[in-house]
Amino acid sequence: MDKGQKFSVWYFFIAVVLAWLFAEYVYKPYAESKGEVPYSEFLADLENKSIETVDITENRITYTLKESASPDKRPIIGGVIFSSTKKAKNPETIKSVVRVTDPLLIDRLAHTDIKFGGIAQRDTILDLIMGIMLPLLPLLIIWYFLFRNIGGSGAGGGIGGIFSFARSRAKELQGEMTGVHFSDIGGAGEAEVELREIIDFLKEPERFDKFGAKLPRGVLLVGPPGTGKTLLAKATAGEAGVPFFFITGSSFVEMFVGVGAARVRDLFDQAKKKAPCIIFVDEIDAIGQSRMNTFNSNSEQENTLNQLLAEMDGFEDNNGVVIMGATNRPEILDQALMRPGRFDRQIQVVLPTEEGREEILKIHTKKIPLAPEIDLRAIAKVTPGFSGADIANIANEAALLAARRKAEKVSTNDFDLAIERVIAGLQRKTPLTPEVRKKVAYHETGHALVACYLPGSDPVHKVSIIPTTKGALGYTMQMPTEDQYLISESELKNKMAVMLGGRAAELLIFNEASTGASNDLERATETARRMVIEFGMSSALGPVRYAAPAMMYLGGAVQIRDDTGDATAVVIDEEIKKLVTEAQDCALKILKEHEHVLHEVAETLQEKEVINNEEIQAFVDKEEKK
Ligand code: ATP
Repeated sequence: MDKGQKFSVWYFFIAVVLAWLFAEYVYKPYAESKGEVPYSEFLADLENKSIETVDITENRITYTLKESASPDKRPIIGGVIFSSTKKAKNPETIKSVVRVTDPLLIDRLAHTDIKFGGIAQRDTILDLIMGIMLPLLPLLIIWYFLFRNIGGSGAGGGIGGIFSFARSRAKELQGEMTGVHFSDIGGAGEAEVELREIIDFLKEPERFDKFGAKLPRGVLLVGPPGTGKTLLAKATAGEAGVPFFFITGSSFVEMFVGVGAARVRDLFDQAKKKAPCIIFVDEIDAIGQSRMNTFNSNSEQENTLNQLLAEMDGFEDNNGVVIMGATNRPEILDQALMRPGRFDRQIQVVLPTEEGREEILKIHTKKIPLAPEIDLRAIAKVTPGFSGADIANIANEAALLAARRKAEKVSTNDFDLAIERVIAGLQRKTPLTPEVRKKVAYHETGHALVACYLPGSDPVHKVSIIPTTKGALGYTMQMPTEDQYLISESELKNKMAVMLGGRAAELLIFNEASTGASNDLERATETARRMVIEFGMSSALGPVRYAAPAMMYLGGAVQIRDDTGDATAVVIDEEIKKLVTEAQDCALKILKEHEHVLHEVAETLQEKEVINNEEIQAFVDKEEKK
């Protein structure tokens, strides 16, 4: 039954109920009250012997008058009383009266020749149904509003949503309708090669059946956010020309126990009907988290996971349903999910390389008019560490900027500003007081100069003291020159010194630190902590790992293993403090040595608000020549 039909059935049902309610509670009381007379009149009519029949119900007495006792209301046309062949009962002869407590009523009637009797109150089926339904109606209405958002098959409720909240909310997209092909994805060469096999399976299962080869059941796409995992899954369905079911792991787990498992069942039922097809579960970690993980034990999530495992086991060989999952935290997934026959294939989707970024830029600028001087490779070069989603965002921001300045084409400057926006956020128009500006200028210059003087640091691209919507009062933008896969101990120490360069400048110039360095301290401390407990970079503790398994991390922060002794924990804290203090001392030393440059750059920054790499370098070179 399609949605439209389901709606019309509901509308019909509601119309019947409303009509019945109207008849029962509005029309019937109105009709009954029409010929209503006071009880005294009934008694008077009884006394006058003008009553012919009496019908008694629980609440009401209806009686008819003898014809002679009522005025004749038949129409008179041309002096002749108009009468039909069958004489109609004159409505004026029927009277109704509310039954009052009158113990003598039957006695009074028995002593007359009036025909009287009771009328049994008949309960119709509708009465019975409504007797049950009406008290439930307010509950149903509350239920409907509660579940409207979590119910329904994707469309977010509607009346059909009342009873279908346990249905899977997978949005079914036909392969063609995903409209995505590998040509829409940049820099995903390796992942593409691995997925080709699945596509071939889905396209020509007979070819593989002939050799007794089994269709891979589960493919897990692993990689950082925004690297195009969803896009790859869609392209797999698009290339194979099969239906695509999309759902996020978190939407399986709702407030009510059992709903998640019911949704998994429903999703697989829907998919089996459409096989061959692909089910894609984004953020699979939301349901697939290890059941050993005591921090987040949640029986609803466990039930959902068990149902997912059962469904994957229940597949017959080559039934044509391929389930793809995506996660950026594979280490926290339950081992049972990774067993053969489940997600037995893992495909790493990594951050794009320089070449990949260029390809992604090409894809996302296809419809954007670019100025001829734009060099996409150069943009790719200055954006290492950016994900596909970041690059798509930059292209869009650049187009927005060009549109806003009513230009014909997007310029290199638009791209520069777009990159800045993506990194630092939009500029805020709140002016800073001169004292705050001065502090921010020295703070940012501190970061920039430490980076300039420490070998191996990422070059400074730009320093700004314009507040941003991301909450910063200023920022120093560093641009790595190449994709970094391994970082050495000395590089980590240098990075920490750059992080603390701002605080060091404040201490040097104003003799005290400010709250502005809070985020720098957080990042530096976290780096030191990882160096000590994760990378074995502490001389006092030696090459030992004290970090808990990744699945135990709370909110992504590295945790210390439970079995770490108290004495060791004290040493860990001391070592972290030592590393952070050393980094700050290193920054202070550099700034003291070059205090003159610090003043020059900070003053220029206060005047100009933004200075770039070349300007800073000019100050540094000038000092060296002296
Ligand atoms: P998440 O882990 O946050 O769900 P994801 O890895 O699934 O992210 P997608 O949702 O596929 O990432 O990507 C988001 C958007 O980024 C895409 O719609 C697309 O515009 C862009 N994008 C990401 N990677 C690529 C790529 N390799 N080529 C082209 N566009 C990309």
